[in-house]
Amino acid sequence: MRRWPSPEASPTSWLPAAEHWNCAARCRRRARGWRRSLDDSPPCRWRRLREAEPDRRRVRYLAPMRMPNPTTDRRGSTASPRRLALCIAAAALQLGASAEAMRPTQSRQSIQPGEPAAAVAYEIDLADRAGHEARIAMRVTLAPEGARIDPAALASGLRLVMSRSSPGRYATHDFAKNVYDVEAVDQRGWKLPLDRLTPHEWRVDLASAPSEVTFRYTLYADRCDGTYSAIDRSHAHLNAPATFVWARGFEGLPHDVRLELPRGWRVSTQLPHRRDGRAFRAMHLAELLDSPIEASDHLVRGFTLPASGEIGAQEILVALHHQGDQAEATSFVHRVEAVVLETVAVFGEPPRFDHGRYTFLADYLPWCRGDGMEHRNSTVLTSSASLARSAERLLGTVAHEFVHAWNVERMRPASLEPFDFERANMSDALWFGEGFTSYYDRLLLKRAGVYSLPRFADRIGGVVDAVLRSPAVRRTSPVAASRQAPFVDAATANDPSNRENTFLSYYTWGAGVGLALDLSLRERLEGGSLDGFLQLVWSQHSEIDRPYEIEDLERLLGDYSGDPTWAQDFFARFVHDGNAPDYFRLLGQAGLRLRRADQERAWLGVEVEPAEQEEAGLLVVGNPLDGSPAAEAGLARGDRLVRLGGQEIGSLAEFEAALAERRPGDPLRLSVEGRGEEFEVEVRLAGDPGWEVVPYEELGLALTPQIERFRDAWLAPRRTLAESSRAALGTPRR
Ligand SMILES: [Zn+2]
Repeated sequence: MRRWPSPEASPTSWLPAAEHWNCAARCRRRARGWRRSLDDSPPCRWRRLREAEPDRRRVRYLAPMRMPNPTTDRRGSTASPRRLALCIAAAALQLGASAEAMRPTQSRQSIQPGEPAAAVAYEIDLADRAGHEARIAMRVTLAPEGARIDPAALASGLRLVMSRSSPGRYATHDFAKNVYDVEAVDQRGWKLPLDRLTPHEWRVDLASAPSEVTFRYTLYADRCDGTYSAIDRSHAHLNAPATFVWARGFEGLPHDVRLELPRGWRVSTQLPHRRDGRAFRAMHLAELLDSPIEASDHLVRGFTLPASGEIGAQEILVALHHQGDQAEATSFVHRVEAVVLETVAVFGEPPRFDHGRYTFLADYLPWCRGDGMEHRNSTVLTSSASLARSAERLLGTVAHEFVHAWNVERMRPASLEPFDFERANMSDALWFGEGFTSYYDRLLLKRAGVYSLPRFADRIGGVVDAVLRSPAVRRTSPVAASRQAPFVDAATANDPSNRENTFLSYYTWGAGVGLALDLSLRERLEGGSLDGFLQLVWSQHSEIDRPYEIEDLERLLGDYSGDPTWAQDFFARFVHDGNAPDYFRLLGQAGLRLRRADQERAWLGVEVEPAEQEEAGLLVVGNPLDGSPAAEAGLARGDRLVRLGGQEIGSLAEFEAALAERRPGDPLRLSVEGRGEEFEVEVRLAGDPGWEVVPYEELGLALTPQIERFRDAWLAPRRTLAESSRAALGTPRR
């Protein structure tokens, strides 16, 4: 769940509503199916391995060895003779360690003098970062000052969980696979019995009535993007659900994080800094898990978002970790500012950022992967591309993620609330949350002056082409596509699927719906636009405690357009069902021509790649598209095309050349091998079905004044429009 009290609220004054967390019920439910598992042996093995190494900094983690206690250990997992022997061996080894190392590890407090420590506090040690490891100590105060923990939550022990889902990502993940070398100790440093209940959950035995539990674990992390964490010589780039184990029953309480930083590193995160810039406090677990952290030698630039109405001036920070120079950074931040201001103009006002600050956490490094991940007051932007070569593309992600500060982060579908960190969150509204956002990331780059008109036409041409061409549009809908997100959004699978024919991404499809809706509103309504409609939605659903259902959007479109019947029809045809809008007419209003890209080119409708070395021909790698010549001929994924028209083919160039020699409508004989059969089949080639969008100017077509007005209203920078409308109204008198 992500419920956000105001930052001024006292850390313990806010507790989650029972109907949302329902911890007691969940614990009871789980308790019924509870089975003790002994797969987590006590960390003797780890201890011994570490101890054998001379590196003193590793010794710090060692707690004094507690001799096994038969009373508590019978309930725990440490009683096996073999484990006992290992523990004793480790204890003997440990005698050689320094007296300093023998003292219980004291958690360094990361709080202001006089403030109570958070009930849950993490310390992150990055000494082993070169090997992609962090050692994390999580201290849980079982009876925190000023807060009451539901006794039911602790009835069977302290339950510690690694998330399976991450805000902004829709598939589930096994973050727990990279958590190891676990151990739990009490406030005296004495070991506590520890079980693993599921692959994602541990249980600490509390029979000895400790006042405090410190759970220590090593996190392995080597994937720099918006979903996972990356720890290496260059940085600790931490996505919170992939980093922090959390405690059941403590979700509503403040969580502190403190990092041990290498020299020269700093931290950027949406969480408020505390004291020395290495310590942070989240008001509750949901805020922690929504707060990515970048620790590295990076630069931070910023600008001020002007006050608007009741919302005061706010700070926009760009934390940039890259290999480029200062000039590239400066130019990038200027363009980020232009995109940010254009985005604010779409919604009419900025969001009210918690703590008055929004942070772009950008990692443009060769060892990162392309991604963007929205959060409430920050976003992660990662790419292997550089600002020098790919600034335009990187700005597209900037625009996309900043639109999310409204659309998804605050204007939120009910289907994503409360957010469940342990399973996939299925939403029927991602065509709106992601798709409309994708439409705007294109539109905003045009308005901000990053895209030329032909480039913009090309970008929306890609969207229109997909909607007009995808076989999925005929058999599914944007709503149904949204519900597929847990299978496609950074999900991994071993078994193939038939996505070519059954799925069109809600990003693309939703962008196509957004484009059609924008142009339809401009066509139907004097001064109407998608911006205007979104401002109405924003006015009704600007916080996540007022999430929307799809019916709300439909009703609001009826209100905005003044024509509920039309709104109903639009939703029925283009949201709940798969239909292609009349893009030719809609785009024509703006002097953009929708046309076939290359209809004279012969097309088979199948994707191929060279087969294995000892095999002849080309391998069919995707499913042939429904209705294509390849599908009609009965080709299937995994078949090998050996000859085209009697000619042997061994390379993609030969395949392309064989098609280029022919015309749409020509017959073509295919020799195919697949699943132990050889057969010949004749197909009739089709024309390339691709579409493109081209400005009238490029076709030598005239722009009427009406077209120019339409284009300006749609694509000109909002700030320019605002200035010209002010000029038209005359200078206001003082
Ligand atoms: Zn998105």
